[in-house]
Order: sequence, then C-alpha cells, then structure tokens
Amino acid sequence: MAAAWAIVAHQRTYAARLASKALMLTTYNKQGMSFDDRYSRQVLFPGIGLEGQKKLAAARVAVVGCGATGTAVSALLARAGVGSLLIIDRDYVEPSNLQRQSLFDEADAAASLPKAVAAARKIAAFNSEVEVRAEVADLTPDNVHALLADTGLLLDGTDNFETRYLMNDFAVKHGKPWIYAAAVAAYAVTMNIIPGETACLSCIFPAPPQGAVETCDTAGILNGAVNLVGSIQATEALKFLTGARDKLRRTLLSFDVWSNDRAEVAADRPRPGCQTCQKREFVHLAGQSRPQITLCGRNSVQIHERHRPVDFAEMTGRLQPHGTVKHNDFVLKFWRDPYELTLFPDGRAIIKGTTDTAVARSLYARFVGN
Ligand SMILES: [Zn+2]
Repeated sequence: MAAAWAIVAHQRTYAARLASKALMLTTYNKQGMSFDDRYSRQVLFPGIGLEGQKKLAAARVAVVGCGATGTAVSALLARAGVGSLLIIDRDYVEPSNLQRQSLFDEADAAASLPKAVAAARKIAAFNSEVEVRAEVADLTPDNVHALLADTGLLLDGTDNFETRYLMNDFAVKHGKPWIYAAAVAAYAVTMNIIPGETACLSCIFPAPPQGAVETCDTAGILNGAVNLVGSIQATEALKFLTGARDKLRRTLLSFDVWSNDRAEVAADRPRPGCQTCQKREFVHLAGQSRPQITLCGRNSVQIHERHRPVDFAEMTGRLQPHGTVKHNDFVLKFWRDPYELTLFPDGRAIIKGTTDTAVARSLYARFVGN
C-alpha cells in the first residue's frame, strides 16, 4: 500500500513538473531561486488544469475594500496566480485590524499605511508575478467607471451597503459579474451575481437594511467567519475565471460558524420587477453627493472631500501649533484631543473621536480648509 502511494506521489510530482514546464513560468526571485513549480499543485487539480491556469494569468480582477474579507480573497487569488489585481480601499491599517486582516502586520499599523498599499506590498513579497495596483480611494459614482471599466470580475470586500449597491448598479449596467460577501460576529453571507442570469443584490435586498444594523463595532467579528467567506468567494472567482460556469453556486449562502446554522436561498433568476436588473434604473450610479459615512469598527466620520490636493509638508507646518502632527508619503495624521484626523493626499479625511458629522465638518473646515 505504501509503495502504491509512493508511485502515485511520484507520478503526481512528475506531472506537476511537466505542467509547469509547459506553462513556461520560469521566474527567479532576488536570490536566483526558480519558481517553476509555483502553480503545480493547482494545475494538477482537474478543475483548473493547464488551460485554467493560463486563463487565471490573463485575468483582471478588482477587489473593492481591503479589510478582512478583502485581504483573504486578495491573498488567495494572488497565490493562485490571477494575473492582475486592482485593490481599492479608502482606509489605513490600525492595531484592531490585525486580529483578522491577514495581509497586514504590526509595522503596517505603526506606519498607518493605507490598506491598499500595505496589501500590494505584502502580495509582491510572496508573488511578484502578479501585477497589483493599489488605489487609495473611496469607490463613488464619480470614479467607479474610471476604476472598474477594464476589470472582468468585481469582488466585494466592503463593509457597507452603500458601496455594494453602487457596485451592483455598475456591474448590472455593464454586464460584469461580481461576488457579494459580508461578515459580522460569527455570521457570514455570500452570493454570486451574474448579470443576465442570476438575481442581483437588489433582487434579494430591494432596500438597504433599515434601523440599527449590527456592525463589527457593535457585534464584534470572528476571524474564522471572514476567512471562510473569503475562501468561498475566492473559489467561486476561480470557477468563473477558468470558465467553469456550470459549477458556480446560484444561491445566497449564509452560515454561522459559532452556532453551525447554515442556510441557502435560491438566487438563480432575477426577481420580476427588480428596479436594477429588470427596470434598469441605476439610482446609485446616478447619485451625486454622498453623505459622510460612519466607518465600521470605530468612532469616526469620513469627509469625502475631493479635488483638494494637499501638500503634506506645508500642511504639517500649518498644523504644528495646534497639536501633534506627522506624515509619510500616503497619509498625514493630526492629533488634537479628543480627535484624530487622518488626511489623504486628495483631501479626503477620516476624523476619529466623533460620530457627529457636523463636528467632523467643522474640524475639517477649521484645520484643512473650507
Ligand atoms: Zn435584480
């Protein structure tokens, strides 16, 4: 029996070598090490194979939001050899992220690195073959076309319904598939949206949840829940990208990793009369001004100021008399008790220490500008 296993193992290794030779992925890292075998175990899997691996190398995928789900799915797809990843995130790394956001480390939190930048750096360290573009931005009706037009698949790593409805409008309008994923506490939920075939987000949730909605801030979050939903999302992405469309799940899948409850709701066809995919009224895409958003996981408000380029050196000089200030190439931080203001080069700001948008607005106007 043991001998038989050894033969099987040998044959598998040999097949893997042949497969990676055929792929001609001979690359060398800085130490001159070859990475011929990188995808060999994945190529061996019949659902992927050599043809599937080539399709992954040619794929262009966007991950919107790079928190826990976003880091999980980005890491898995980068390791799997997806050729081009666009990572869009508006936030920066903090110590409270490290419990579940698997692409970040303590140095990223200490430097307040933008999550998109930290993720791109980490991916480059384990797979330099993947082209990663980091976009430190909030996805809005103004920039959604410019950012997502040339991507073939959109992945949800966001923490809010506002951005998800915007993604849904864009995806349905342009016939791009996207994968919804969310997690809070021990609960996670995901759904594949294939425009023209399956239900869209608005078919299932015609309106955003009303009233008090549980967030990571109020209910906490287990890292197993987010990494599980990220794994499912990444696998569905592999199916789509390799052309295994008959294997794509056509349900809204939810599970609770603590209670072991699990549910599936059919989502294989659109809901008659759906405003988005049936009437094709893209109200979220048409939205002009957006309200300030209270971010998940902390006591803070974001100011969506744009087209106000900030010179960090000049701003540091201006703010120094009023509190503590420091900056790197990506963010400027300003502490004035009890508030902490984080400013990005395009003028966007996150103000911590309040959930009052008027207080945040006035702090911004006072210290950054009207
Ligand atoms: Zn719909």
